[in-house]
Amino acid sequence: MFSPARAWREFPQRYRLEAARCTECGKVLYPPRLICPECGGRDFATEVLPRDGTVVTYTVIRVPPAGFTEQTPLPIALVELVNGVRLMVQIADVADPESLEIGMPVRLEFRRVSWDGEAGVIFYGHKAVRATG
Ligand SMILES: [Zn+2]
Repeated sequence: MFSPARAWREFPQRYRLEAARCTECGKVLYPPRLICPECGGRDFATEVLPRDGTVVTYTVIRVPPAGFTEQTPLPIALVELVNGVRLMVQIADVADPESLEIGMPVRLEFRRVSWDGEAGVIFYGHKAVRATG
């Protein structure tokens, strides 16, 4: 279930914090899917996700994918938002990965997540930062 590689591939879908709420059963899907895994429904309403959540589990990538070389070690967390939706995000502003802990409150912020140096393209997405207060 916890797959950093999959998280990287899905980053373009994460530019907006929009989930799909199944109009049949109310299940919130993020990233959105075409068919609800709960009830098989195909009608969804767009729902903007809350930004606050807690760290469910995390891993630290020390050999990052191409484009992320300026950011090692790279902590990736499975975060559960206050509405129960879980998503994988990079944790930003962590000087010492050893300071991370399960249950840590975090808040999602919009940050640069990578760049393609040759094409000069910069990608943005959401990262989690330690919530204060
Ligand atoms: Zn459903």
